[in-house]
Amino acid sequence: MIYIHVPYCKQRCLYCAFYSVATRSSIQPYVDALCNEIALRKNYLKHSQIRTIYFGGGTPSLLTAAQIMQVKQTIGRYFDISNLEEVTLEANPEQLTDKYLSELKKTDFINRLSIGVQSFNDADLKLLNRWHTGVQAESVVKKAKEYGFENISIDLIYALPNCGVDGWKNNLQKVEELGVSHLSCYSLTVEEGTMLDTLINKGKLPQVDEEMSIKHYELLVQWAKDNGYIHYEVSNLCKPNCEAKHNSRYWNSTPYLGVGAAAHSYDGFSRQWNIDNVDRYIHDLQHDIVPCEREELEERDTYNEYLMTALRTLNGLDKDVLETKYPSLWKDTEILLQKYVDQGLLQKTNSGYGPTSKGYLFVDAIATDLMI
Ligand code: SF4
Repeated sequence: MIYIHVPYCKQRCLYCAFYSVATRSSIQPYVDALCNEIALRKNYLKHSQIRTIYFGGGTPSLLTAAQIMQVKQTIGRYFDISNLEEVTLEANPEQLTDKYLSELKKTDFINRLSIGVQSFNDADLKLLNRWHTGVQAESVVKKAKEYGFENISIDLIYALPNCGVDGWKNNLQKVEELGVSHLSCYSLTVEEGTMLDTLINKGKLPQVDEEMSIKHYELLVQWAKDNGYIHYEVSNLCKPNCEAKHNSRYWNSTPYLGVGAAAHSYDGFSRQWNIDNVDRYIHDLQHDIVPCEREELEERDTYNEYLMTALRTLNGLDKDVLETKYPSLWKDTEILLQKYVDQGLLQKTNSGYGPTSKGYLFVDAIATDLMI
C-alpha cells in the first residue's frame, strides 16, 4: 500500500495541528518531487503488489486531475498496480466542483472520496474556519454520487462548542439521508499551538465540554446501531462491507510506503519519516536525496504498536498473531486483559479480545497499561 502526502491547504482550520503550508505556488515542483521519491524508493515494499493508494493531507484535492495522473503513471512505472482495490482522495467540499468531479472520474483511478465535511451546520463551519457551507457539503456528496463515486466517506467532528445534542443529531441524520456508507467521527481535541488552543487560552472560546463529548459519542453509538452502521474502529463506522481497506491495513500492521513531506513509512522492521518542510523536501529530491530519518524497531516496539492499533478496532487483539509472533511478551499481557473484561471495557471475541462500545472511550489508556 502507498500513502501520498499533500501538505497544502487553502487556510488553517481552527483545530488543526498537522503540518501544511498555505501557498500553492510550489505544488507542481512538489508533485515532481513526489514522483522522484516514488522512483527512488521503488524497492521499499520488496516488489509486493499494491492494493490500495491513499492521497492524504493537507488537502489533496488541491492537486489537478493531471497531477494525480502524473503520480498514478509514476507508481505504475515502478510498482505492480494491476490489482488495485481502493484509491482514496481526501477532498474538501469547496473543491469538488462539477468540472473537478468529472475530471477525477475520467482518470479511472480514484474510486473513493473521503470528504472533509466536519459539520452540516454553518455556525460550526464558520467557527472551525472552514470554507464551505452545510448546503454545499450536502450538495457535493449528492453530486459525487451522480458522477459515479459510490464509495464515499465523510469526516465529522463532535463536541463542538455550540453544537449541542440537537445539532449533533441533525448531523447524523444528514449522513443517513445522504446514504453515505462510511463515516469518520472525531471528538474536538485541543492541540498545543493551534488557533483553538490560543482562543481557549485567551478565554474567547470555552474548554471542550467533556460531558458533551461523551454524550455525543453515546448518541453516535446508538445512531449506528439504529441505522445499520458497524462501529469497526474507534473513530470509524460503516455499512456492512464498506470498511476503509487502506486504513484497515494500517491497523493490522501491513507495511506501507509513505511519500511526500512529513510522510511516514513502515516496512515491518523499521519506521521512516520524511522531513516536514516542503521547500527542503523539493530541494533534496531535485538532487535525488530523500530527506528522512529512520528507526529500527525492536520486537517490543512492534508488539506495543500492535497493541495500540489492534485495540482500537472491533476485531481487537488476535491471539493467534500474538502467540505466534510474541509468545513470551504475550503471556504477561493476557493476565492483565481479564481486568478490563471484568470492567466491561473489553470483551472476548472469536479470535481474541476487542473493545466494547464503552471500552472504545478508554482504548488508548488500556493499551498504554498493557504495553511492555
Ligand atoms: S484542511 Fe485539513 S490539514 Fe488543512 S488545515 Fe484544515 S484540517 Fe488541517
